[in-house]
Amino acid sequence: MSLSNGRDLRSIPGPSVIPDRVLNAMHRASPNIYEGELVDMADGIYADLRRLAGTAFHPVIYLSNGHGAWEASVSNLMEEGDHILVLTTGRFGAGWAEMAEAHGVIAECKDFGMDGHADPHWLEDRLRQPDAGRIKAILVVQTDTSTSVHNNIPALRAAIDAAGHDALFMVDCIASLGCARYEMDAWGVDVTIGASQKGLMVPPGLGLTFHNEKAERVQRAKKRHSAYWNWEPRVHGGMFYQKFAGTAPTHHLFGLRESLTMILHEEGLEHVWHRHRALQGAVGAAVTAWAADGPMRFNIADPAYRSPAVTTLHLDGVDASVLRRWCEEQSGLTLGVGLGFSNDRTMQGRSVFRIGHMGHLNPPMILGALATLDAGLKALAIPHGRGALDAAADAIAAAQIETAAAEVGRTG
Ligand SMILES: *Cc1c(COP(=O)(O)O)cnc(C)c1O
Repeated sequence: MSLSNGRDLRSIPGPSVIPDRVLNAMHRASPNIYEGELVDMADGIYADLRRLAGTAFHPVIYLSNGHGAWEASVSNLMEEGDHILVLTTGRFGAGWAEMAEAHGVIAECKDFGMDGHADPHWLEDRLRQPDAGRIKAILVVQTDTSTSVHNNIPALRAAIDAAGHDALFMVDCIASLGCARYEMDAWGVDVTIGASQKGLMVPPGLGLTFHNEKAERVQRAKKRHSAYWNWEPRVHGGMFYQKFAGTAPTHHLFGLRESLTMILHEEGLEHVWHRHRALQGAVGAAVTAWAADGPMRFNIADPAYRSPAVTTLHLDGVDASVLRRWCEEQSGLTLGVGLGFSNDRTMQGRSVFRIGHMGHLNPPMILGALATLDAGLKALAIPHGRGALDAAADAIAAAQIETAAAEVGRTG
């Protein structure tokens, strides 16, 4: 008997749960695109995007998904024959490199594996090699959504500085913007990539780039520019339509306005980051208990490199699609598929699944998802350690005691 009537929960790593407030903000007739509310709210949206990414410089909004934002970064900065260094820690870094290669760029990919993180020591050594001068840009993903690794961006910046290299430093934050601490200017990042459908809780359809003055100098030195992707008129054009090279993403902008209000002006960015860490702590505690017995294990063994937005799990020797299907059909919980794993140990990826925990999420949602997963393991007789739900509840309680203590500290 399926018990799945009620509100479904998508615990996939994007698109994430869309708040009713965001949906309601989008539910309206087409606005005037020449003057009025839509045009008036643009400056505030760009100012809030700067706050979100921790930059004083240039946010650009495209009508695209994340791949479009990747394309924008490549199109603005790279020319045929340029050399770039891509630090790959999963499927998404490799995807960005492939987009650059399609432009004739020579991408040197250093693969840290499907369970590794981008190693700052390796980077520093590489940048000290005699041929390193030709490297124009270094690309890395903060959270790689396939492996759920969370790379240490400040440590990678420090490695670049230690080697005295002046390549552009470009970071894909699509899965982590609005989930994990990120300070573009303070961390010395030149280009940041984002998208609307993950931590920002807006439907897919907005690709975001942020670039600083160093990136702008490199961009202006490039000989030819795509009329569509070109940053210049989008940042400096002055007219509203130039920001989008045509019609604005009208309804998505109203949705984004609402989500930025929720994140920055109501909950507060620091609290949003803290909440994600707390909810990830509950997932981590449950998985640790399950993994004590049976086939489940974390893909990322070192807790310091686990993402606050998504967790990739193995069920060694078990077809995880059976568990995912049970959760979806019997209980209304959708889990993420394994992505990018293709060896025998993972049954060509079939023993891998992911829990998304990004965006509009609270303890009943995450505890509900974990309890449903626990029920699925039991129903399908997949061996697992006991006490996962107790451990998850303890993690939530501990996080809330910590928050309460901080609040008393502030006011008292
Ligand atoms: C989702 C994601 C992408 C791709 O975004 P699309 O909107 O599917 O094009 C790229 N990078 C990361 C880290 C992602 O999580």
